[in-house]
Amino acid sequence: MTPFTSTKRTHNRLCFPGMRILSLLLLSIVASPLLAAEETATASAKFDASLIENDTVTITLKSGVEYEDVEVARVTTHTKTGAPQRLIGTLKSGTRRTFTFASIDEVTKGEEIVFKNTNSGATKPKAKSKKEVDEEEAAKQHELWLARLQARGVKPWGELTEEDHAKAIAVHKERYEKAAKLMPTLQLYETEHFLFCSNLHPEQVRIFVASLDRMYEWMQQTYGVDPEKSVWRGKASVFAFAQKQEFVAFEKEFLDNPDTGFAMGLCHNDWERNVCITCYTGTDPEYFGVLLVHETSHGFLHCFQTQARIPSWVNEGMAEVIASKMVPTSGAVQLKEKRFFESMRTIQQPRLGESFFVVDQNIPADRYGGASSLTRFLIQTDQEKYVKFVKLMKEGMEWEEALSASYNANKDQLVSAYGRWLGLPHLLP
Ligand SMILES: [Zn+2]
Repeated sequence: MTPFTSTKRTHNRLCFPGMRILSLLLLSIVASPLLAAEETATASAKFDASLIENDTVTITLKSGVEYEDVEVARVTTHTKTGAPQRLIGTLKSGTRRTFTFASIDEVTKGEEIVFKNTNSGATKPKAKSKKEVDEEEAAKQHELWLARLQARGVKPWGELTEEDHAKAIAVHKERYEKAAKLMPTLQLYETEHFLFCSNLHPEQVRIFVASLDRMYEWMQQTYGVDPEKSVWRGKASVFAFAQKQEFVAFEKEFLDNPDTGFAMGLCHNDWERNVCITCYTGTDPEYFGVLLVHETSHGFLHCFQTQARIPSWVNEGMAEVIASKMVPTSGAVQLKEKRFFESMRTIQQPRLGESFFVVDQNIPADRYGGASSLTRFLIQTDQEKYVKFVKLMKEGMEWEEALSASYNANKDQLVSAYGRWLGLPHLLP
């Protein structure tokens, strides 16, 4: 999606240029000891919030991250003491943010410092617990992460409330009920993260649902997703049909897709983080399980952390590897890898080809085996580095830069090492 621009990093501080600044004010604050222990900031002087509301300021956080041109919408204060608590404003990118004053070092308006947190200095009244230190470090890392996203023009997914999730689940269920009126054999099976709607035999459904739940758990653990938060909005709805004509009819009627082409399964994602997967079994239930996990992994990756897109070879490669891991009884992915290897082995000068690494379209069908074996190679080499590689691309970093930052290798080195691992020592990109 958005093109990568370099991070404006100066030492440990990230700055965003082009600010207009405003005036300031400081008035003595009388903070009680109780207040100091609360999540409020101690200002060196009393702070009159009204003087910065609807104005543009620069906010420097204790983490060192600086936000210029923040348009202040509102400042909340402690009802009794008047100490500032939260600043709600709009960043230059147009993103709405809430800052707690406890996390702010200073606020400047023009050349003047309108707020200075006197708790931000070196004088610490008491030693912090490990939990406090960890929380502060996590908050600092989060601020730095947000700043890197902003520098690359990548939007993080916003917070979803319980109400958002409940509404999305209700919408999915409504669609299921409408579909069930047309196909009375359709049953709904609900798990923690999925709404599985199917006219397949319940015993078959149980196996498929279990593999999806395992995939979700594996992705959650591997990528460090907060278990308290759903990666997508509500639950992912899955419509798994016995017959191709049911899948085609459902796509047309409910998802506005008149042409499913040769697809046996599709993943529909949107910019609200709704995920709907549709598919039909065909004659091979094992392959169907692979397909289901494959499509769902696309939904997961789309909803993970940010709206940044991942190149097709990584996205498809990961989907294939996870699918073969979750449905080990199927040899479908291994077969594609074998076919890819055989097709390369017979060529005098084997190449992955230009279309393999393109970022704005899907890899060709005959390269899926290459994408999955290359992904397998990267994960086997170092899973932690692979996770870092994916996370950096989710920050908006181009894949070759992310590869260099995680595996310390460039594209040629990657292909050369992969070729040797695969038994194709002369493989070229
Ligand atoms: Zn795919």
